[in-house]
Amino acid sequence: MKVLFCFYPLFVHYNHGVALLSQLCRQRGIETELYMLDDVDKFAAFLTGKQYAAVCFSAVIERDYTNCVPFMRRARARGELVLLGGVYPRRGVALPNCPAHLVCRGDGESLPDFLLLGDDRLFQEQMIAPDLNALPLPDYELFKNIPFDRELPFMAERHDKKVLPYYSSRGCRSACTFCEVRNQNGTYRLRRNVGTDLRCLSQRYQPDLFMIGDETLPYYDKRWRESWGNFHHPFVAYLRGDCPVEQLAWLKERGLSGCAFGVESGDETYRNDVLKKGLTDEELLRTVEQLNRLDIPYAPFYMTGLPGESMRQQAATHKMREQLGGFPVTFQYENLKPSGRI
Ligand code: SF4
Repeated sequence: MKVLFCFYPLFVHYNHGVALLSQLCRQRGIETELYMLDDVDKFAAFLTGKQYAAVCFSAVIERDYTNCVPFMRRARARGELVLLGGVYPRRGVALPNCPAHLVCRGDGESLPDFLLLGDDRLFQEQMIAPDLNALPLPDYELFKNIPFDRELPFMAERHDKKVLPYYSSRGCRSACTFCEVRNQNGTYRLRRNVGTDLRCLSQRYQPDLFMIGDETLPYYDKRWRESWGNFHHPFVAYLRGDCPVEQLAWLKERGLSGCAFGVESGDETYRNDVLKKGLTDEELLRTVEQLNRLDIPYAPFYMTGLPGESMRQQAATHKMREQLGGFPVTFQYENLKPSGRI
């Protein structure tokens, strides 16, 4: 039995979700193959003479989902069983006329049970992987000859470097009103052997740095910090703008080489009363000061044009963008809303 994984490469070529599913399948004796979507006719030619147990598509945002649609149609027309999963469908967005036979709206790690035993709960319920420690490490062998070109706003000179994705937790303990993470099923879950995981991945794939893609890096959790043991390696991650000084110093010592964090609004009242960010101006200024002192590049994220946000509040966001510096990224609400990202 063999499955084909497909995704449309927008920003990321090394896809953690596909690498993990590939490993889970292989552990159960299911062969896996990868096709990075490019041209529909080329894809159809690739499928000619083959028959997979399933052709599995993965989408992260609306744009790569839309790009996948003609490929899904073509695979379906050729008689393949077409499955869809990934971050975008997990958001619960409407997918009118989706060509996939089945759509996974939760964690997809029980795919082998569907393929081998016909257990289709992952397409019927919003399933979660309750214990991250029961999952294997991702298998990036499928990506062996694929060049890496992940964009990191603060590391223009590193676009040719191998930045390997890794996740040490799922979920977030904060509850910002605008954030899609709140709508995902399941609580905050942690992997217990981060140091062992990273050492193993580093020996296997020799990355230049890790991209630890957790919603928010759980540096505040003592168990997580202890699980690093004495491992050090360059990495980038998402933090909160109120990361305590001593924990930021600890992260630097472990290899933190760049980070991003959400400011959202420059107006403290709007940020906390409406967006429930739980983040003061004072904490932001303290974090930025320490990031500069530790020479860690940072990308503050902002949002503007939000419902109920006044011109004065938007102006405060622009002012804060100037004040905090770094490599700021600003999202416009009217662009985020239709794509289901807020
Ligand atoms: S915006 Fe960040 S801190 Fe807030 S809930 Fe989402 S992931 Fe957590």
